[in-house]
Amino acid sequence: MRLRHVPVLIVGGGPAGLSCALFLAQHQIPYLLVERHSGPTIHARPIGLSPRTMELLRQLELEEAVHAAAAPLAQARGEISLGMLTRTNLERAQRTTPDGDELEFEEQMKTLISMHSPSTVCPCNLADLERILTAAALKHGGDLRFHTELISFKQDSTGITAVLLEHKGSELKESVHADYLIAADGAHSLVLRCLELATTGRGELGMHFLHISFQADLSEIVHGHEFLLCTIEHSEVSGLLMTINNTDRWLFHIPYHPEVGETPEQFTPDFCRDLLRKITDQPDLSVEILSILPWTPMERIAECFNKDRVFLVGDAAHVMYPTGGAGANTGIQDAHNLAWKLATVLRGLARPPLLETYDTERRPVACLTAAQEVPTAEKQETAPAHPLYIALGYYYASEAIITQEGYTPQLHALDLDGHPGTRAPHLWVEYQGKRISLLDLFGKSFILLTGEEGTGWHEAYSSVASGLSLDVAMYRIAPDGDVVELEQAWCIAYGVSASGAAIIRPDGFVAWRAKTSIPNPAAELEVVLMRLLCRNS
Ligand SMILES: Cc1cc2nc3c(=O)[nH]c(=O)nc-3n(C[C@H](O)[C@H](O)[C@H](O)COP(=O)(O)OP(=O)(O)OC[C@H]3O[C@@H](n4cnc5c(N)ncnc54)[C@H](O)[C@@H]3O)c2cc1C
Repeated sequence: MRLRHVPVLIVGGGPAGLSCALFLAQHQIPYLLVERHSGPTIHARPIGLSPRTMELLRQLELEEAVHAAAAPLAQARGEISLGMLTRTNLERAQRTTPDGDELEFEEQMKTLISMHSPSTVCPCNLADLERILTAAALKHGGDLRFHTELISFKQDSTGITAVLLEHKGSELKESVHADYLIAADGAHSLVLRCLELATTGRGELGMHFLHISFQADLSEIVHGHEFLLCTIEHSEVSGLLMTINNTDRWLFHIPYHPEVGETPEQFTPDFCRDLLRKITDQPDLSVEILSILPWTPMERIAECFNKDRVFLVGDAAHVMYPTGGAGANTGIQDAHNLAWKLATVLRGLARPPLLETYDTERRPVACLTAAQEVPTAEKQETAPAHPLYIALGYYYASEAIITQEGYTPQLHALDLDGHPGTRAPHLWVEYQGKRISLLDLFGKSFILLTGEEGTGWHEAYSSVASGLSLDVAMYRIAPDGDVVELEQAWCIAYGVSASGAAIIRPDGFVAWRAKTSIPNPAAELEVVLMRLLCRNS
């Protein structure tokens, strides 16, 4: 029997899998995404999207939609600690951040982010994010199959053969052939287990929690004193109250203790309703319990993020403690790193060794990010990175980055200076009569950027890129160029002179730069592009 063939099979429709779908679609790569549930998650959970993640959503033209969905959280600020959630307690509450004064810290971060990014942080409900990503994937003609589970797969040198089980009324088995498999199947990844890859990490934290998602109108209590997180230290229950919309949707996160015989089943809806009435000091509060989910925090990182034709992204590759809220962000960024590489190889423009740079680049970022996530009760073992290093400043070193300059990433600063391996610096520029971020030009192909004296580079790039069948995308940034600087000089931001040049990868990372013009730019660019595409390997 002839099997249905797809270039890429994505398993899992969480934030990582849906992002893979959207980034592949951006490169016009067909895919099939299977998700065992009936649709995007119905379990609301507040997550903080980092500026880099928001830049990626901006590239997908979804930044505004996410901000709009997150509007109910826009007024929410900081973390507080209370005995009970009452209006009087809230009015007296001290707002805290790891760095002291909350508002001052927030303002400093905002200013720094605005210097380096067109985007900003965005607290949002994970369920809203998944809904937006799903709608966008469907709008772009994505092949998304819900109620469908991957139950087994095997791979050989020609591809993947996967067995899918559809649960819709009756059960239907189907086999699919794919060139590549992306495992975005979450913390309990079947694919990771089947690959028998070793894992590292601090393992389970030894604590067990329940997420109680509920509906109750608390708007009169919190209005004007909105918070993101509220630790409740009540005599009968301690937990973390998280806001979903600052009015009637909430999540209460409480520990339970199997070591003394407690089980999740003891936390019935009636029991939980009672606890919520106690912590709000409102015996008659109308509470609807939406779901009660057990959860055990852990840290587990696969020792390799790919095996031949299978790639792990998101929680399938790395599960982190949730203290720094980096799991979904890291997964979305994995997807962005992988999609252009798969697209370039599938089109025959790059050779398969390019795909190995996915592990080389993303695993160190995941390990560093996980190391920053410390359970609140523990002391941090590694030196804490700059708060925006993880969010924006992370660095790649691999075969797909070329540098002759010695470079040690500065973990304690946000060092986006155009060095190869870092996210290309953001500048406000004018392009086709519009004010845009220079980052808005990136995403689909390699791009050559030059300054005022870059004409020689352009002529050379045009012939070399077309000779290699690449899109010829290039911009001259100058007062009379196709891109005009508005606030900051391009060459200062990118660490080159007016005769220098830089190549930006489709994921917006600097792949290579030349500080000045050179005698034979075509020869240099040919060597650079051949190496970036792993065509010599
Ligand atoms: C309390 C808490 C707070 C958090 N806060 C933040 C935060 O502020 N910021 C942040 O970035 N992250 C945060 N995280 C982490 C974040 O929620 C996860 O890292 C993220 O959801 C992982 O996304 P994913 O797509 O990799 O996996 P998941 O969201 O787990 O999605 C995996 C999907 O795969 C499907 N699936 C699994 N197996 C199969 C199969 N065999 N066939 C078909 N489908 C399958 C599942 O049904 C699921 O939908 C938090 C986590 C917790 C628990």
